Amino acid sequence: RPLVGVLAVQGDVREHLAALEAAGARTRTVRRPTELDGLDGLVVPGGESTTIDRLCRIFGLHEPLRERIASGLPVYGSCAGMIQLADRILDGHVEQQTFGGIDMTVRRNAFGRQVDSFESDLHVEGLRDAGRPFRAVFIRAPRVEDAGPDVQVLARVDDAVVAVRQGNLLATSFHPEVTDDHRVHELFVRICEQARAVPAA
Ligand code: GLN
Repeated sequence: RPLVGVLAVQGDVREHLAALEAAGARTRTVRRPTELDGLDGLVVPGGESTTIDRLCRIFGLHEPLRERIASGLPVYGSCAGMIQLADRILDGHVEQQTFGGIDMTVRRNAFGRQVDSFESDLHVEGLRDAGRPFRAVFIRAPRVEDAGPDVQVLARVDDAVVAVRQGNLLATSFHPEVTDDHRVHELFVRICEQARAVPAA
């Protein structure tokens, strides 16, 4: 079973640990750079991206994480985690930095105040049992405004892109860890297994 870390500086860490275990992974919380060693993958949870960014820089995790991403570590970012995987962001805090990795522009809080939170049944490409819709929960969610040619769009709500994959990097605007449908985590665990079988150069 692959060993998957959950970045545990802020956000809904516990729910991701449980979902990953249910999806067949071993898990570890990550708060310091040495805890990145030996991981087959990492989840960046939802929460507040500005806080996750600030704490990662304080804890010395920002640079090591950027390096791991560049060398092919599978990373899944949900909501605030999606923001942190974007190469470019809109409506970020002035000082906000992302880890980057996915060639996309993500707008924070993109669905507006009136619809702070909502749920939607989505078709998500690449999931097991693909005909069955995925009940997606959005909480002050970001959306993908544009994406480069290497970015695969996995799901949309109306016109808005809300799930993407680029190589070993996966990102969703929504929170699959708050439901008991673990297919998004299963997809990520599969990406981790495949990356372990064929390590990046
Ligand atoms: N709006 C938050 C942010 O910008 C993300 C919300 C979430 O992760 N549920 O970081």
